Amino acid sequence: MAKKQKKRRKIIKVRPISVNCAFCETKTDPDYKAYEFLSKYVSERGRVADRERSGNCAKHQRKMTTAIKRARHLGLILYA
Ligand SMILES: [Zn+2]
Repeated sequence: MAKKQKKRRKIIKVRPISVNCAFCETKTDPDYKAYEFLSKYVSERGRVADRERSGNCAKHQRKMTTAIKRARHLGLILYA
């Protein structure tokens, strides 16, 4: 007889995103010309870091993604 295995419910905790926005601290806006700084938020495979990873606020995360996309278009940051 097989032992009855208790079903364990996965407890999913809702983690509040800690905001420590680098752009708010320095009071600057993300700029595609500062691609060396922006490349910090791009993973090895060329993916843009999400808000949980980057720690940016919503406003600067939006601006950062457009800045990264602009830099990609100019060939400053790799696509993949
Ligand atoms: Zn911010």
